[in-house]
Amino acid sequence: MKILQPTDEAIKFAARALQNGELIGLPTETVYGIGASALNSAAIRKTFDLKRRPAENPLIVHVTSLEAASNLVSSIPDAARKLAKAFWPGPMTMVLPKTSLVPDEATGGLSTVAIRVPMSPVALAILFESGLPVTAPSANMFMGLSPTQADRIAPEILSGLACVIDEGPCHFGIESTVIDCTGSDLTILRPGAITRRMIETLTGLKVSPAAAEERRSPGMYRRHYAPKTPIRFVEALGPFDAGIGFSEPQSKYQFQLPKEPAGYSQRLYSTLYSLDQMSRLQILVESPPDDPEWEAVWDRLKKATGT
Ligand code: AMP
Ligand code: MG
Repeated sequence: MKILQPTDEAIKFAARALQNGELIGLPTETVYGIGASALNSAAIRKTFDLKRRPAENPLIVHVTSLEAASNLVSSIPDAARKLAKAFWPGPMTMVLPKTSLVPDEATGGLSTVAIRVPMSPVALAILFESGLPVTAPSANMFMGLSPTQADRIAPEILSGLACVIDEGPCHFGIESTVIDCTGSDLTILRPGAITRRMIETLTGLKVSPAAAEERRSPGMYRRHYAPKTPIRFVEALGPFDAGIGFSEPQSKYQFQLPKEPAGYSQRLYSTLYSLDQMSRLQILVESPPDDPEWEAVWDRLKKATGT
């Protein structure tokens, strides 16, 4: 059995696997990732092969602290220090200029690298035990739904992993906020649980929204995070529709999610996964509130619908 409970022994096993250039299933507070040593080009290439991810789509490097990243990045602007102090460990990724220690394979050849300190205790324990920076894209095939629990990792991904450490359902359930910290302004490349308002309040800087800057982040595609079943927005679910709504379900094909963005995000992918398993003709999703706090949910739903 490859799915292991997070005992000291399992964490040591996972850390050794990383040191040996193998891939592991890494739990984080956002989604489950495919962990590899960020210093090992061959291990990183294996990650891309396993996910069938295009080589130009850069990975996020996970570390234990800003200090631990000091030899991976060539400069750290003041705003980035502030952000790290406020939101690390946590679901926030910062893009910074990279040093030559970071293999080009990890960054799709870019001169910048995305760095994050996760807050999942198991992820941190594995990072500390291995002593390595770890790349960890979501543990799904390219374009698919990210797994938010260990038993949702598809067999074709599982077959390429030395083990998966099971930390239960992910706390946030959607990928981290990605912030480009290389320019004079901060730019959100991907919205997440750390919202634009939180970043602006903290730094006092104006933060550009994600959509306007799509081309600055090679991994941002119009369709992404998508179930296999076609999916589209509706005002309200009808009695015979399959999908996600905010009201009491009218059948077993309907799921009621919380009318607050954190709770909604946490269950979004696992709900889409359940709906996908039901093989309905289409999945309908009631539009969430048009409010900045829902930006990350809107982003993932729009990518799932390809709109
Ligand atoms: P994930 O797919 O969750 O591993 O997140 C990685 C995403 O972060 C990529 O698809 C990019 O959109 C973004 N990203 C990672 N590294 C960079 C970088 N150096 N510059 C810009 N965006 C990046
Ligand atoms: Mg992903």
